Amino acid sequence: AQSEEALQREQTNERLSQEPGKTLLSVNQVERIFQVGGRSLHVLKGIQMEVKQQQLVMLKGRSGSGKTTLLNCLGGLDTPSKGEIIFNGKPFSTKSDDERTLVRRRDMGFIFQAFALMPLLSAWENVELSLRMAGTPRSQWKERVEECLTLVGLEKRMHHRPFELSGGEQQRVAIAKAIAHKPILLLADEPTAELDTAMSAQVMAVFQNIIRTENVSICMTTHDLTILEVADHVYEMVDGKFI
Ligand code: ADP
Repeated sequence: AQSEEALQREQTNERLSQEPGKTLLSVNQVERIFQVGGRSLHVLKGIQMEVKQQQLVMLKGRSGSGKTTLLNCLGGLDTPSKGEIIFNGKPFSTKSDDERTLVRRRDMGFIFQAFALMPLLSAWENVELSLRMAGTPRSQWKERVEECLTLVGLEKRMHHRPFELSGGEQQRVAIAKAIAHKPILLLADEPTAELDTAMSAQVMAVFQNIIRTENVSICMTTHDLTILEVADHVYEMVDGKFI
């Protein structure tokens, strides 16, 4: 609990000096092997990659190529069988589960394909909930919720509930929710998969906006070829390896 308190106290993006181009995340020879029914399934086969500050990095590849497994390792939800992940200058994948959870809660935000909003809560309440979970002092909620919903272009939709919003708007609420506690890395698994081209473009525009205004880096998986051009870097995964 004590270390949690210490982490909460420094819970501000100010701890990350703005140095666009500086390495934020590096992945060194990562392998992931699952044991399935007495057999070894080699899913990641020596992954080498980097995400720099204020970069938008995309992982593309067919279904089953290993993108989600890699993303889970980057977010500390899973750990590599071999190799290492360094995050913000410190070993990450080799930390204990508890330590990784603390770093994840403080420094990372997650966005999923299916928006993952609380259906009965308004956009405002959804973002507020995320601040509550992160332990942000209540006195800061109002200002930060307003700021985040404005950043994603939903200043006129703050009190709508998910079912009153389009898919693209719902995903933008999810983004507001993911950045509310000021993470330095956003991990997104197929964030545009359920959206049409116009809505996908809006979501990507929001990503590009928050990269600069919030000093955040983004790593996302996609199989949508129309959005690849906005990436700073694209890694293509084939059968657990980058080509
Ligand atoms: P993608 O995101 O590119 O579709 P995944 O990372 O989800 O690929 O899956 C890659 C491969 O790893 C698949 O064959 C999948 O069945 C396997 N896999 C993923 N997670 C596990 C697990 N927990 N146990 C066993 N096999 C897994």
